[in-house]
Amino acid sequence: MTGHWLGEPAQWPQHLSLVLQHALDHLPREACGYVVGPSLPPLFVPLRNSAVAPERSFAVADVVALRELDRRCAAGEPVVFYHSHPQGAASFSDQDRARWTTDHGPTWRLDHLVMGCTARAVTEMALLRWAADQREYVVHARLPSLLASTGLAPGAHL
Ligand SMILES: [Zn+2]
Repeated sequence: MTGHWLGEPAQWPQHLSLVLQHALDHLPREACGYVVGPSLPPLFVPLRNSAVAPERSFAVADVVALRELDRRCAAGEPVVFYHSHPQGAASFSDQDRARWTTDHGPTWRLDHLVMGCTARAVTEMALLRWAADQREYVVHARLPSLLASTGLAPGAHL
């Protein structure tokens, strides 16, 4: 598989602060969206969470937005899809694993940023990247390096 990943988190601090802000604004509900980069200004695409129980999961009903994401991934644009886990950890849930992984590889060629949160703050972030040899997403980078690159303290209330 050719790599079209976004690169190291330190290269996209502007994206990270927008993502963090989106997650904070939506607590205690899950927030989701994606970023494309690195580029200035950052291309930041927050998505609407249409899940029936947005405190526990997310769903994207916006077909146009999904088609656009699909097009970007197919075109080899570097994309990171992000979502938050209110009252949860910065790691893939079983549901995430099922959603983003197929028998043939990742559902889409993109990195994932998962945010672990309390009821009111984002407390950890992890960037997951597809590991072809392990045939699954593995943690590529973790807090504090991710939050440090945003200039925001862990657990920041904005
Ligand atoms: Zn999740």
